[in-house]
Amino acid sequence: MVVVGCQWGDEGKGKIVDVLAEEVDVVARYQGGANAGHTVHVGDDEFILHQIPSGILHPAKRCLLGNGVVLDLIQFFEEYDALLRRGIEVEGRVGVSRRAHLLLPYHRVLDRALEDEAADKIGTTGRGIGPAYEDKAGRRGIRVADLEDEDRFRELVARGVARARGRLVELGREEDDDLDQAVEKVARLRERLLALSTDTGREVDLALARDQRVLLEGAQGTALDLDHGTYPYVTSSNTTAAAAATGIGVGPTRIRSVLGVVKAYTTRVGNGPLPTEFDPEMDERMRELGGEFGATTGRPRRCGWFDAVLARHAARVNGLTGLAVTKLDVLDSLPEVSVATGYRTPAGVVEEFPADTWGLESVEPILETHEGWEVPTTGARSLEDLPRNARRYLDRIQELTGAPIEMVSVGTRRSQIVRVA
Ligand code: GDP
Repeated sequence: MVVVGCQWGDEGKGKIVDVLAEEVDVVARYQGGANAGHTVHVGDDEFILHQIPSGILHPAKRCLLGNGVVLDLIQFFEEYDALLRRGIEVEGRVGVSRRAHLLLPYHRVLDRALEDEAADKIGTTGRGIGPAYEDKAGRRGIRVADLEDEDRFRELVARGVARARGRLVELGREEDDDLDQAVEKVARLRERLLALSTDTGREVDLALARDQRVLLEGAQGTALDLDHGTYPYVTSSNTTAAAAATGIGVGPTRIRSVLGVVKAYTTRVGNGPLPTEFDPEMDERMRELGGEFGATTGRPRRCGWFDAVLARHAARVNGLTGLAVTKLDVLDSLPEVSVATGYRTPAGVVEEFPADTWGLESVEPILETHEGWEVPTTGARSLEDLPRNARRYLDRIQELTGAPIEMVSVGTRRSQIVRVA
């Protein structure tokens, strides 16, 4: 099963994966890096995980990072050790693909320098993800398997550092002496990482052959997909469900179901179009109601109404077999809720998500307004527990998106979930 975000990320995938992890044996990440941040609440504890799948919070689940991930190993071990300190059994449960690319300190430095330089700022998290994927596509990346031979690894890193320094000089930046120190830090983690390295495709294949259940977890969301999102305001990897196969190392025929996660409204961090964006006053109100501040950067998220045009696009490009709607409770106090069913453009009404990102900046959403429910939904555990207007709203989302709703999340806790299927 694949769990994929269907908006601009931050849909609450962490919570959905956390609920589903209970029922699976293996949880694997297939793309992205430490730019993803899942916030998971277990009892009164809050865990923010950037690289290790949130399945780690369930005893005995195997957690994998696939070849499609770019691994920031300094940050990875900080996260790993923090889990250990908090009493989570981590040993023997985490595996990292030997084909995964390493995100090295110079990628971070370059990321920030390039973003400062860019004419159209993407609003990156500055974690080095873009430059690491550039090196991968440019065939000069360094993979986990390259750690095997220490001399060769050092040689590859030295080349990477020299190249990064060259680019920094081109960008008019000072030399960064810290780069060498940081490389030493990486070299020290070499053996620790090798001990965790594995073939994720083979592991998943074997698990499936044993009738085990595997959950492949996407980071970010469909509108941030390198091909299907609002390019160039996207992330540097394919976030959509098909990437789960390549990013883990199994064939697409191994994937049986795709659960799309959507928030009951829309948010986005960083720059780029957000067709249903609220006016500043409402934006502020929703940000407070939904706690819409980035888990990785703390940046305020921009908020808007549910965008069914985007959700329909996501349903098609991901081949969704089901939908999980999160944060329904955030809308509880609103007298009215709206959904965008199409966009008005100079060329007429469109109902398909346009490829033209610049054009998307100026579309006017066609909003359909529904009566709110104005009672708390946080205690609901079945569809029948939900107020009638909330059910109508969900029915409409399902109808417009074209995928059946399987889950509705009504709070941050594991127990605050309505299972439909
Ligand atoms: P992810 O990257 O898609 O997992 O999203 P984030 O972790 O950035 O955002 C999810 C945030 O929303 C976390 O703080 C969750 O605890 C919270 N959250 C998830 N589901 C719900 C929900 O149904 N209701 C409320 N109120 N908060 C939720």
